[in-house]
Amino acid sequence: MSNLKNKTIIITGAAMGLGLASAIECASQEANLTLIDFNEASLKKAETAILEKFPQTKLLSIVADVSSEDTVKSYVEQTVKTFGRIDGFYNNAGIEGRQAPMTEYDIDIFKKVIDINLMGVYYGLRYVIPVMQDQKYGRIVNVASVGGIRGVMNQTPYVASKHAVSGMTKNAALEYAKFGITANAIAPGAILTPMVAEAFVQLNAADPKAAETEYAQSNPSKRLGLPEEVAKVVAFLLSEDCSYINGQTIAIDGGQSNSY
Ligand code: NAD
Repeated sequence: MSNLKNKTIIITGAAMGLGLASAIECASQEANLTLIDFNEASLKKAETAILEKFPQTKLLSIVADVSSEDTVKSYVEQTVKTFGRIDGFYNNAGIEGRQAPMTEYDIDIFKKVIDINLMGVYYGLRYVIPVMQDQKYGRIVNVASVGGIRGVMNQTPYVASKHAVSGMTKNAALEYAKFGITANAIAPGAILTPMVAEAFVQLNAADPKAAETEYAQSNPSKRLGLPEEVAKVVAFLLSEDCSYINGQTIAIDGGQSNSY
């Protein structure tokens, strides 16, 4: 299936985890890609892996921190200069921060989580949407979390930032649907990426695998999700076929967020 053939898609946080899985899925569907990440070494590795598997991919990779407004403006400009347009935007880069009770949370880490997860997503929307408006077409997928639907113990800034992502998604849909733009968010549950592996280390440094197994028991599916399972949904939301779903936050969590 090549629903993304010749579509130009920007993916932030593309060097690993959910971003990389979606980059691979989009490349398999013959999209042109701009890959953004602030981890230069991992971004290079991701680029090599994609081009080995899909050598025909037109690919621009840019080392950039999404929490810097000028940097975001620049990656959008470079994408338009290279590919002429932006059809899809996977606004994915994010961090978890540290886990701590609300009143003990380190303020500097709190601000860093907000700068990346909230402001980084906002800067992306601010500079990508005008390009899509001019084209009268665009597909935006912001990455929230089940932490953007519910509370998560000891993760106050993460939960605050992900609720904000879900809120901004609704506003983007309301304000720009008339320009042929859809904006949706995904709310992944626990998906086995490097970020989640690190969370299990924080929960049980001596035996992170035991923390993972215990966590999976509370999921109706009795397992964690895979990045590839998320990537399939993202590819649909980035495609022309997703023309009348707008402003939604879609849980991808094996059913867990329905649990009382
Ligand atoms: P990850 O840590 O495995 O990968 C994130 C990537 O984003 C890394 O390559 C990292 O270098 C990059 N990145 C982080 N901050 C950046 C910045 N400021 N500028 C540019 N690049 C930056 O994480 P992941 O699990 O793939 O998570 C991706 C997104 O999905 C995040 O927004 C995360 O909050 C969200 N999410 C993940 C899960 C999960 O279970 N994995 C669940 C819910 C939501």
